[in-house]
Amino acid sequence: MKWVLRAAFLLCIAAAAYVYRAPLRVFAYQTYAQVRPCSVPIAYGINSIDPRFGISTSTVLTSITTATGIWSDAAHRSLFVYDPAHAVLEVNFVYDTRQETTAKLKSLGLTVNDDLASYNAMKAKYNTLTADYKTTKAAFDTAYATYQQQSTLYQQQVNIWNAKGGAPADVYKQLNAQKAALDSQRAHIQTLQSRLNSDADSINAMVSVLNHMVSVLNLDASKYNSVGAGTGQEFEEAVFQSAPGKQSITVYEYDSSQRLTRVLSHEFGHALGLDHVADENAIMYRLNQSSRSSASSADIAELDRVCRI
Ligand SMILES: [Zn+2]
Repeated sequence: MKWVLRAAFLLCIAAAAYVYRAPLRVFAYQTYAQVRPCSVPIAYGINSIDPRFGISTSTVLTSITTATGIWSDAAHRSLFVYDPAHAVLEVNFVYDTRQETTAKLKSLGLTVNDDLASYNAMKAKYNTLTADYKTTKAAFDTAYATYQQQSTLYQQQVNIWNAKGGAPADVYKQLNAQKAALDSQRAHIQTLQSRLNSDADSINAMVSVLNHMVSVLNLDASKYNSVGAGTGQEFEEAVFQSAPGKQSITVYEYDSSQRLTRVLSHEFGHALGLDHVADENAIMYRLNQSSRSSASSADIAELDRVCRI
């Protein structure tokens, strides 16, 4: 009877391994990449593309090939491979519904009527949100400046110890703690950025309606201005996310094929383990603002730090 139980147990293990084979594969890759980064090409697949983008899978693939080629060319080896069956990184195109003004206003409990009551309700909400936006923006700027400063200090220490051939155990432990603190600061910054984005979307949705009401109701009010400029587009356009057993790149918006390739290159860079660099023209700069379509020397230095090219 014992062998029946043993067989049933092994069958259960096999079934679980089969059911969870995708996250297990990603987890195995993540563990291996920690020890030997960039040593095997990252297999990626395209999981979903919202049809509202009006972009075909083959066009996305062409763009990804160009985007990842920037890193592979610089490293003189293949760092990524399109292999949907064994993908450890999935790419999604999620249509950005933030622009849908009507739905946004509705979600804020605002109705759009060309009357004074509707105008006043919206104006009150606008004032509350702009005040919140300003407070959050100030907190974001402070947190980001601190993060940049501490991140640079951390990197300097790592470089010093690397040059010496490695750090003693206690220093290594301390550096790991610093890295963990930096990661949590970065998560906090992203939370603030999400809140800024959400507030900006609501404010901008209101601005166009408020300006329309001012003219229709013939009110003596100054023009309302939209917000959002100055917080950068990097976090807004796309994001790379990594959790045990799951890695993904999600693209939310892009306005030209050149910018799409750039943002993909940036996020695939994060997938390799690259951090942001200070060079404003670099692909790994925190904002997607340059038109440069190849890796800058700062990008290559960062690639070298992670991949030892
Ligand atoms: Zn980034």
